[in-house]
Amino acid sequence: MSSQKKVRVRFAPSPTGGLHLGGVRTALFNYLFARHHKGEFILRIEDTDQTRFVSGAEEYITECLAWCGIEPDESPNKPGSFGPYRQSERKPSYRQYAEQLIKDGYAYYAFDTAEELEEQRKIHPNFRYSHENRAELRNSLSLSNEEVQMLLGEGVPYTVRIKMPENEVLSFEDMIRGRVSFETKLVDDKVLLKADGMPTYHLAVVVDDKAMEISHIFRGEEWLPSAPVHILLWEYLGWKQEMPEWAHLPLILKPDGNGKLSKRDGDRLGFPVYAMNWADPKSGDLTKGFRELGFLPEAFLNMLALLGWNDGTEQEIFTKDELIEKFAVERISKSGAKFDFEKAKWFNHEWIKQTDNIALVVQMRNILVEHGIEKVDPVFLDGVLSAVKERMTYISDFWTQTSFFFQRPNSYDVEAIKPKWNAQKTSFFEELIVELIELPVWEASALELFFKEKVASSGMKVGELMMPFRIMLVGGKFGPDVFKIAELLEENEVIGRIEAALPHFSE
Ligand code: GLU
Repeated sequence: MSSQKKVRVRFAPSPTGGLHLGGVRTALFNYLFARHHKGEFILRIEDTDQTRFVSGAEEYITECLAWCGIEPDESPNKPGSFGPYRQSERKPSYRQYAEQLIKDGYAYYAFDTAEELEEQRKIHPNFRYSHENRAELRNSLSLSNEEVQMLLGEGVPYTVRIKMPENEVLSFEDMIRGRVSFETKLVDDKVLLKADGMPTYHLAVVVDDKAMEISHIFRGEEWLPSAPVHILLWEYLGWKQEMPEWAHLPLILKPDGNGKLSKRDGDRLGFPVYAMNWADPKSGDLTKGFRELGFLPEAFLNMLALLGWNDGTEQEIFTKDELIEKFAVERISKSGAKFDFEKAKWFNHEWIKQTDNIALVVQMRNILVEHGIEKVDPVFLDGVLSAVKERMTYISDFWTQTSFFFQRPNSYDVEAIKPKWNAQKTSFFEELIVELIELPVWEASALELFFKEKVASSGMKVGELMMPFRIMLVGGKFGPDVFKIAELLEENEVIGRIEAALPHFSE
């Protein structure tokens, strides 16, 4: 990296729908690079394609970055001195560059109507507007100057297209891939300015990256084919010396490695691909997201960071601060990264385990409220959470793992118990109720010791009585350590539950 440049990077999504995890990874890598180099991370909304605009998508992007903790330094909601940060609001700034390119002979007016181009596509199925056919189409290169002036004077709609050189090789040094070259003869004359006066992505991205003093660009590999157009625009506009450095990030692949991971793969294989739930405003279709499934943002980011990057060691769990410190472009891989949902779950599980209860309780309380449990003693909640943390994959697992702490079982899994039940076992628990009252310390290890000693003196086996005890307390064969459960439920409740359950076992 050249040392003089102030690092300014941007995440430049188009607000067209939910944010794919690949998009969040692009944002994350930009963010990590910016923070590592004490630079700035900018959010720019690329909304020049009015036909693809989807209402609510920009708000979704903003919320998503906030949830992930990758907040921009400058954005539509937090303007800095390079605004506006929505391309549609920058519309007046682009035309002058399109006109400058025409004047300098690097671009031209194209008057072909949509119907005419459609006609061409019918005749030539692989039709591309390019050096091969531009002389036969209706543009300022094929028409006389008088005709062009007349059409312009009459207000006939036109687009502006770049005039790709016929036979040049263009190259640049990608930060990840090294030298990448393109033959211009394979690239078509891309539209730069549309008939509605809006710039296309190609013109807008170059003009804005220049205006916003962007130093480095991290974007998905799918943008690599656009690079020759962008290189030429930087050159043709006279800004070649200021061209940012580029890094084209490897694709995120389907779990089997066969092609790019799409939203449809998620639907098909039963996992989310979007960061957060996305409700399509037109169809009303809901696409599930990682947040609502119960991912911690820390886990989501950690998982994304390792899709195509590692720090060169075996370490897998990284905090955001560690990622910032260790992030290095040299360690981004060139090849695609397979998405593995089981691994994503593992990251979440690990993060739930290592996150302080204090940072989780608000979400746990919300889950309880959803189930009608409004008041919970904070010490009890803390204990319950500690008891089940190891067993949670998703935040949303909290209720299934803990509901029995907050309400008595209303049914018992007696099938495994009844056939072997006898009067001796009934007496064991009847005596236990009385003896528990006498117990001097109510704590898991003391309870366990007492229970086991009592079993031993009865001549029965621990296993024969532990399982019934668990089922009395929770209703089934699940939950954390039974003595821990008893400790948390406290004496009165444990005794109450044994009393309530016994008749179901011996009837
Ligand atoms: N607007 C493009 C997108 O939607 C941005 C590509 C780029 O970063 O240059 O991803």
